[in-house]
Parts: sequence; structure tokens; C-alpha cells
Amino acid sequence: MARALITGVTGQDGAYLAALLLSKGYEVHGLLHRHGGSEAVEDRLRRLGCKGDVQMVDGNLIDLSSLIRLLGKIQPDEIYNLAAQSFVRMSWDQPLLTTQVTAIGTANMLEALRIAAPGARYFQASSSEMFGRAETPSQNEETRFHPRSPYASAKVFAHCLTVNYRESFGLFTCNGIMFNHDSPLRGIEFVLRKITDGAARISLGRATELPMGNLDARRDFGHARDYVRAMWLMLQQDKADDYVIATGRAASIRDLCRIAFAHVGLDYEAHVTIDPRFMRPADVEITIGDATRARTRLGWVPETSLEEMIAEMVEADLAKWRARA
Ligand code: GDP
Repeated sequence: MARALITGVTGQDGAYLAALLLSKGYEVHGLLHRHGGSEAVEDRLRRLGCKGDVQMVDGNLIDLSSLIRLLGKIQPDEIYNLAAQSFVRMSWDQPLLTTQVTAIGTANMLEALRIAAPGARYFQASSSEMFGRAETPSQNEETRFHPRSPYASAKVFAHCLTVNYRESFGLFTCNGIMFNHDSPLRGIEFVLRKITDGAARISLGRATELPMGNLDARRDFGHARDYVRAMWLMLQQDKADDYVIATGRAASIRDLCRIAFAHVGLDYEAHVTIDPRFMRPADVEITIGDATRARTRLGWVPETSLEEMIAEMVEADLAKWRARA
């Protein structure tokens, strides 16, 4: 039986990836950074029906010795490093914490890999935010990075170190440069989930307006379920490499509002307001990923369209709000 260790297992991608690996017969271990009870943090695993099937181990990305001990004990065949301080806007308020977890945390994981489990295959969750103000209309693995936030800068370091450990030590380390991906399990602080939750609340009469930031930003949005499949595929290849994972299609935040509100029979313009609190010191205007390498080498294509994903998310938020008296 193959063994996998997932950091960030209680997040959106961790939960979908755990479900995928369990369905393939893996023994799945999840790194849990406990703050108090684990009930709430394991909520996403419960929603996908796999709470109890993932073996939770206590540890923290910023504690190298805990990682060395865990990797030595578990001896995983595959490691998926999904943990990060991943909320871009917060990274300006907490740049050092973001660097500690997202950049140094990755250095710790790679060191633990090198010291305690050098035969394991390693996946690093890289981010399209690294491209920032890109000079080309779409971005692939060769596009120059121009990070526009402390989060993106920390991810660039983590990305480069992952390449460096592959080239320096011959370790099997891959970066997946993941463009935005969402699902009903996405945190409420991220833009699409905020919109689908707002549309659901407003349609049920629980709110009247939804304050938003920059509606003109454009992003390439896919479904997390499709994206974790790409992570797994990367680690099944003969050779480690880096891959862009994206749909190749961009939608503006305004488009997302229009589609989500239309799903509940409303006009977004009557409810969405602009609130400077949600504007960023510097924003990324547009990202569009070119996933040609993933398509040709991994045979990966996204299966869920943007409209299907938004419908699934609005329906999940409607069900959640209806269940709350
Ligand atoms: P990111 O691409 O990882 O930063 O994902 P987000 O979901 O946090 O944000 C995507 C885009 O939506 C950014 O360009 C934001 O400026 C824009 N945006 C506009 N209004 C909002 C808002 O109210 N909340 C968030 N999170 N983003 C917003």
C-alpha cells in the first residue's frame, strides 16, 4: 500500500487530495497544526466523507525537528506540501508570518525530505500569483515571475528552492503552478466563495448587499477537484518537473458576480457595492494559464466548467443557509 503525507490537509485542496488518494487505496497521513480541538478543522474532510480515514499527525512546518521525526517514522512514498499562509490580502499585514510559513516552511519540508525520506516524491503547491504583473498574455512554465505581494514573493522562494533541491540533490521534487481553484470547500475569505455565499444569503433574504473590492481583476478559475488530480499525476511520471495547472480561460470578478447572482434569479448590479476595504495595495490585473505541458505530458484536462462550478458552489451555500434557522 502506498503511503502519502499531506500538509495543509484540512484546507480545500488537502481535503480533495485526501479523498482522491484514499479512493486509490493509499494510506493517507495528514499534518495537523492543532490549535485547540480538531473537530472544526477537520470539517472539510468530514464533508467529503473521509474524516477518520486520514491518519492525523501533529507537527508544524516551522518546526524542522518535528518534520524530520515524522518523515522518518511514516516513510511516505509521496509528500504533498499544500500548507501555507495563503490569503494574499493578509500577507501585507503579516508579511513575516507569511514568509515564515510559506517560504521557510517549504525550506524545512525540503530539508526534512533530504535528511529523512530522500526516496519520497515531493509536490510543492506553487501559485499563479508568482507571475503577478506578467508581460505575456498567458503564462507558462517559462514566464518570468513578478510577484506583487508578500505571499507571492514567499511562493517564488519556495518554488525556486524546490527546483534547486531537484537539481542539486537529484530529489524527485515537482512544482505545480496552480492558478485559482475553488469549490464549495473554499474559504469564505476568497473572492468566488464570498460571492456565491453572498448571492445565496441575499436570495434567501438574509442580506441585501455584498461589499466587494476590485471587480475588474481577471483570473483563471478552475475546480479544486480537477487540480488535485494534476498534483497526483505529476508524482506518477518518470521524471520530476514543473507544471502550470490552469483552464486557459479568464473571467473578471464582475463576471463571477453576474453568473452567481443570475443562478438565483438576481441582477448583481442591484446588490454588489464597492468598498475600499477590499481593495489591495497592489493587485494582479489578469492571469491566464497555459497548461499545454500538463495536457501533453500528463494527459490532464480540467473537467468542470466555470459555470458548473459556480452553480455547485451557490447550491451548497443555499443549502447551508437554509439549514441555519
Ligand atoms: P487570489 O487570486 O489568490 O488573490 O484570490 P482571491 O480570491 O483572494 O482574489 C482574487 C481577486 O479578486 C483579486 O484580484 C482581488 O483584488 C479581487 N477581489 C475583488 N473583491 C474582492 C473581495 O471582496 N475579496 C477578495 N478576496 N478578493 C476580491
